[in-house]
Amino acid sequence: MEQLKYNIFKYDGFKNMIEKMIESGYYFASFLEAEGLIKQNKHFILMRHDVDMSLESAIILAEIESKLNIKSTFFILLRTENYNIFSKHDNLLIKKLINMGHYLGLHFDCSSYSKYKSIADLRDACNKECNILENWFNTPISIISYHRPNNLILSGIYELSSPRKYTYMPLFTKRIKYFSDSRCRWKNGSPIESKTLKIKMLCIFYIIQFGIHKKNLRPRKN
Ligand SMILES: [Zn+2]
Repeated sequence: MEQLKYNIFKYDGFKNMIEKMIESGYYFASFLEAEGLIKQNKHFILMRHDVDMSLESAIILAEIESKLNIKSTFFILLRTENYNIFSKHDNLLIKKLINMGHYLGLHFDCSSYSKYKSIADLRDACNKECNILENWFNTPISIISYHRPNNLILSGIYELSSPRKYTYMPLFTKRIKYFSDSRCRWKNGSPIESKTLKIKMLCIFYIIQFGIHKKNLRPRKN
């Protein structure tokens, strides 16, 4: 692995990672565009951020990306104790993400539905939350990411989210080279190693785990 000047899991390192990807000629696409871009054999990246903890931290990443003229997808939880999309403050933050040109997706937490019995129950709950998000912010929600996925979710079956797609479907994890971080470590090698940057299509899952925004912010350990 190459020696890195920056810590990729801090904001300056994140910016450096994006700059390297831009230099390598990637187009930052929405999940909806992926299938078409694969058919055209285009060089692209799907940048995914699941907002588990802090919308403030999401805004910082969004601003870094926006200044570099790229777009990513922010997956928002509806049922969480960490923020409230309907509160005046958080509502404005999400509108800010949209106004910067970023895409919204639903981050869906199955554990909020302790009584679900079938795949159809989960799919219906997912779609219900998508419709709420879509109507409230008047923006299309075409992609879902499951929070803390179990084996069923990781199996990637379309029935879990149809008619919308979700991020663990083989289209995003097998047909496109998939990188994800866990507790500030990349699971399958760093996405900015020089050999990786020659791969045509990448899906980068960069978890926002900085917690509440503070000066001299450090990634949250959990
Ligand atoms: Zn999550």
